[in-house]
Amino acid sequence: MFEGLKALPQDPILGLMMKFREDTNPDKLDLGVGVYKDEQGNTPIMESVHLAEQQLLITESTKSYIAPAGTILYNQRMRELVFGADHVVLKEGRIASAQTPGGCGALRMAAEFIQGCNADSAVWVSTPTWANHIPLLGGAGVTIKEYPYYDYEQNNVQFDAMLASLEAASAGDFLLLHGCCHNPSGADLNQEQWQAVTELCARKGLIPFIDMAYQGLGSGLDEDAYGVRLMADTLPEMLVATSCSKNFGLYRERTGTLFIVAGNAEQAANAGSQLFNKIRSHYSMPPSHGAAIVETILSDTGMNQQWQEELQAMRQRIQSLRKMLVQKITATGIDRDFSFIEQQFGMFSFLGITPQQVAQLQRDYGIYIVDSSRVNVAGLNDDRMDYFVNALVEVLR
Ligand code: PMP
Repeated sequence: MFEGLKALPQDPILGLMMKFREDTNPDKLDLGVGVYKDEQGNTPIMESVHLAEQQLLITESTKSYIAPAGTILYNQRMRELVFGADHVVLKEGRIASAQTPGGCGALRMAAEFIQGCNADSAVWVSTPTWANHIPLLGGAGVTIKEYPYYDYEQNNVQFDAMLASLEAASAGDFLLLHGCCHNPSGADLNQEQWQAVTELCARKGLIPFIDMAYQGLGSGLDEDAYGVRLMADTLPEMLVATSCSKNFGLYRERTGTLFIVAGNAEQAANAGSQLFNKIRSHYSMPPSHGAAIVETILSDTGMNQQWQEELQAMRQRIQSLRKMLVQKITATGIDRDFSFIEQQFGMFSFLGITPQQVAQLQRDYGIYIVDSSRVNVAGLNDDRMDYFVNALVEVLR
């Protein structure tokens, strides 16, 4: 049965990680993989997470099953974090939610839910989008359509083209948007643009499907949720997938949430029952540990405050690296404008260099970035900035 199987090509980013590990260049620099790194190049466990784990070690009394939806308290705390504690959809009980194995689990279960609602609904994704969106959604059998998003010439959102393209969407189609810190481009919708997309969804009967994997890493916890909250204020239905991988640093603990907002409480409960049924037939129940940490932190005033301070420090580090990078590139006198990097959000930006130049950075300098020229800005630090800027300017000569 297995003899005829052919090896599949490796995932490009995982392949890049492996190549980096094997590279013996002492100056090598990993700007490829999408994890936050501190000034020392580590992806540390947050102090607030340590504290919550210590508490859990003492208080956790069972490893028995939870439920397909996860724990009630985790779901409640995440609703408050994402929508805001006073949001009307919370008050009206119009949200069903589930604790999921990471943001990936939320995205895949959203796709399974969409297929169950209406197999003819398409999901519209931005071009470009996070590479794993396509397999995660397509794997559930969902039809994927694309709308133009990033303008590689202007290094910004090509908003008019996006809106024009979405005119072709049909009522009942889903519109996948990045809540903040667009991966891979770092180019986000501004508030006016969120308003215009909300109007478009209302007019055409499109259902927003927001992937928010970086809440708190762009402009702030509330600021980054602007789009989600606006759409939930205005539109009757939406899906929101979130991840605690980045903002709690819980990557390997696989912690995420899927929210379904519906027209009223009864519809939300029905939609939830459909979702939990899908979950039961996929992985039955989510892993517990990461969500228990999040629930503990968000339920404790002191830990919550500490977590927010740690998150703020991460966000500010990314912002100052973006600033420093633009300053240092500009100071070389190179005749090319990189100021867009400072205006973008989250860990990623496209440098806008060719695949040959990307390969040259890797070969001559041991600098690893994704072929598309996406860099993880958080992979830089004060010590390595000059090395990187010098290499970039050299390959651009
Ligand atoms: N969405 C986007 C846009 C992402 O970048 C990521 C993580 N790279 C995820 C979702 C999901 O992450 P995870 O499954 O690790 O929580």
